[in-house]
Amino acid sequence: MAYSNKIKELYQNQLKGIQDAGLFKQERFIHSSQDAEIEVEFPTGSAPKKVINVCANNYLGLSSHPEVIKAAHEGLDTRGYGMSSVRFICGTQDIHRELENKVSEFLGTEDTILFPSCMDANAGVFEAILTSEDIMISDRLVHASIIDGMRLCAAQHDTFKHSDMAHLEKKLQLHADKRLKVVINDGVYSMDGDTAKLDEMAALCEKYDALLFVDESHSSGFIGKTGRGTHEKCGVMGKIDIITTTFGKALGGASGGCVSGRKEIVEMCRQKARPYLFSNTIAPVVVSGVLRVLDILSQSTERRDKLEVNTEFWRKGLSEAGFVLKDGDTPIVPVMLFNAKLAQDFSKDLFDLGIYAIGFFFPVVPQGAARIRTQISAGHEMHHLEKALDAFIKVGKKYDILGKTKQEIIEMYGN
Ligand SMILES: *Cc1c(COP(=O)(O)O)cnc(C)c1O
Repeated sequence: MAYSNKIKELYQNQLKGIQDAGLFKQERFIHSSQDAEIEVEFPTGSAPKKVINVCANNYLGLSSHPEVIKAAHEGLDTRGYGMSSVRFICGTQDIHRELENKVSEFLGTEDTILFPSCMDANAGVFEAILTSEDIMISDRLVHASIIDGMRLCAAQHDTFKHSDMAHLEKKLQLHADKRLKVVINDGVYSMDGDTAKLDEMAALCEKYDALLFVDESHSSGFIGKTGRGTHEKCGVMGKIDIITTTFGKALGGASGGCVSGRKEIVEMCRQKARPYLFSNTIAPVVVSGVLRVLDILSQSTERRDKLEVNTEFWRKGLSEAGFVLKDGDTPIVPVMLFNAKLAQDFSKDLFDLGIYAIGFFFPVVPQGAARIRTQISAGHEMHHLEKALDAFIKVGKKYDILGKTKQEIIEMYGN
């Protein structure tokens, strides 16, 4: 017997270690579609309860939009269910290329290549375009999938302090001798909700002859005046060499991702990126859904405008109530609690009041930086946000943290 009791115990012990460290991730079952209101079974085995969802990446409220669902049905009816092949054998339909062209148009780039996910896009892109003569210079807080992608690549690696442009410039000078230099960062950082200084980065990249890479997973569809992303917000559309993004968040929320940018870089990915070559692409039903999403967003900025109004209301409400927030203007609004147990208790009390928001603590965020990360959506109506704000204030009062500073909260609960 290969899977002996000894091996079984080895894993059981490791799992227990995860549990003992308080790091065991318990999933909760949703019994409805993903929306502003969802039905959640929590704790497991209990009757599903209707709650307002303030922790999804459903920024534009498109995950269950009737027009997107209709388009997905049409895709299913006209192009079938599955591809049963990778793209370069017989797994490319006309709609896959149509989507690539639409994404390029939306992001203002030269070309686009689809991947099964943005995780795969990030896992494949660096290895496809860089060699050991090159250097990847990444922000210290980039997403896990970028870190994995850099690990899979033979190029050298260095980092700069989060959003520290002076430090980035030093690193660019330090690596002046490398064949290619790529500056790598997220457009909007998902834990703090802050925005990359893409305009300053683009200027530095021009000065030091470096390529600029940005992961727009938490930006595409709603950041910038017409929702094109951080490059639009920072006034550098057309200056980003490589954009990766996901269709699994604001852009319908199903799945899929892409690399978009310079034509030759996209073509290199098509020839060499392993997750593209060796894994099926996005299913036709999803492609049709995303095509419709991009149509909706190109016709009107109504949804991103509503998201902006909702976000302003939410940030202002929490801030005036006396919560400690992370600064910023994106729909990612972290309510800082600092202590891990307080974050968990707070989340549970919110759930009892019909509000779904999850506590984040180490190792997802740094030690002593526990929080409830709230995410606002265009799918929220004012009555949702008012009810959620009410609940936050009630629970905030219960723990006596309203109007308290970071230092005071840490004195009361530890960190
Ligand atoms: C969510 C996310 C991804 C992964 O996207 P998937 O398409 O779900 O694989 C990659 N990068 C960033 C910054 C993300 O937030």
